[in-house]
Amino acid sequence: HEGVGAWIPRRAAMTPGRTAVVFGERSLTYAELADRVARLADRLRAAGVKPGSRVAYLGTNHPSFVEAMFAAHRLGAIFVPLNFRLAAPEIAYVLGDSEPEVLIYGPGSRDVVRALDDLPGAVVAVEEPDDGQLDYETWLHEGENDPVTADAAVRGEDIALILYTSGTTGRPKGAMLSHANLVWNTYNLLVGVDITSQERTLISSPLFHVAALNQCLLPTLLKGGCAVILPGWDVDLAYDLIERERITMLFGVTTMFAGLAGSPRWASADLSSVRTVMTGGSTVPESLIRTFQDRGLVFCQGYGMTETAPGATFLEGNESARKVGSAGVPTMFTSVRVVRGDGGGAAPGEPGEVLVKGPNVSPGYWRDAEATAASRTDDGWFRSGDVAKLDDEGHLYVVDRVKDMFISGGENVYPAEVENAIFAHPSVLEVAVIGVPDPTWGEVGCAYVVCGSGERPTLDALREFLASRLAKYKIPRELHVVDGLPKTGSGKVQKARLRSSR
Ligand code: AMP
Ligand code: MG
Repeated sequence: HEGVGAWIPRRAAMTPGRTAVVFGERSLTYAELADRVARLADRLRAAGVKPGSRVAYLGTNHPSFVEAMFAAHRLGAIFVPLNFRLAAPEIAYVLGDSEPEVLIYGPGSRDVVRALDDLPGAVVAVEEPDDGQLDYETWLHEGENDPVTADAAVRGEDIALILYTSGTTGRPKGAMLSHANLVWNTYNLLVGVDITSQERTLISSPLFHVAALNQCLLPTLLKGGCAVILPGWDVDLAYDLIERERITMLFGVTTMFAGLAGSPRWASADLSSVRTVMTGGSTVPESLIRTFQDRGLVFCQGYGMTETAPGATFLEGNESARKVGSAGVPTMFTSVRVVRGDGGGAAPGEPGEVLVKGPNVSPGYWRDAEATAASRTDDGWFRSGDVAKLDDEGHLYVVDRVKDMFISGGENVYPAEVENAIFAHPSVLEVAVIGVPDPTWGEVGCAYVVCGSGERPTLDALREFLASRLAKYKIPRELHVVDGLPKTGSGKVQKARLRSSR
């Protein structure tokens, strides 16, 4: 069995009494977690889940997420965690594309589930099911006498996860990650960070993201440590848990760390248990690195993406001061190149596209051979779409994105998707969206629209129009109604000119 599904029963045999998961007042030992996973696997099997079937989860961080993932994996099924911030039409698209046998959803997603026309055969509510739906806790205990005790024969190349990322075309693509991808990403991380069996990891970013899932949860549980799960980010709650649960490892995006440093509790909080602070997904501002250093905390930083499971490069904590702004060097089992437009290697200091190869790289996009082919070079390197430079010591510095994606509060926003939604507005003739710097969110959307003869929308009216169509973090916070957009000879909007005109 080469699958991640075996980790929990094996861990339970080694360290049955150790705490695996803490959530509010609840906690589960490895033995308890393994028992619940076995029961859930039995229930899923009874609902028709087979090797290769999909099991979708929609909800904020909760122990049932962990249980559902490992239960699916014990059956050789594919776990599909959904972004709970998406609006109903976006969720509907992803469900239609992945066709799960079962959907498990949390209380915060009830309204969105009610708004869906087509639902999978079995719908399970973590709390208070609607008519025709199953109640998670009751259901879990129905199969009392028949828990799954043997795992499906899972091979490394079998798919473990489908993680949807919004594409540049505006249509989300399902990045597939195999069991081997997850195992090798964990090895990469264990080489870079001294994660121990005594780890108490705060899981404060959403588990549907590759970062919380693969960089925090999986390595912690593999080592027999404890995952302290937060339902959502809250500075005061994070401080409470760091102190009460003696947190040893923190992962977050810049927005979260800025929130901690900006809190009145920053100076007085007991942070003596914290040994590792990890971040990734965007460049950490130097001032924040220094602020944390003054408190004795150094950032381990990384660069990667969903398709690389995610660790592609890694910067050790003790290098973070010397290499400010760098995302480090390739991880142990992964190769990274920076290439010019003609495919030749870029010289030190010369920007180029980042290519990645290794056992952590996704085999492709779910049911999208075209997107899969477009994401590879002829010799099999994954094209990140990011522009970076290497310095003369081989350290990577991310400078831009080939695609115009921007990141708002840790969430990727693809302008094409936002533009499609704005186009639906009756008075909009043309639109372009760019990301602009924002002190709170890192970046926010800024929309330029050309209007016809109808009423010109105000920012508030446009935001209201988009509220039912797009997740909140994608909705622009700035609007310019303009007479025309700068274009190239072939009619493509010149976003660089929009950016430089600000
Ligand atoms: P995702 O698709 O959510 O996995 O996001 C991956 C993208 O985040 C990458 O393609 C980069 O554009 C960006 N990213 C990840 N790590 C870093 C980093 N350390 N510095 C700058 N940008 C990053
Ligand atoms: Mg991406």
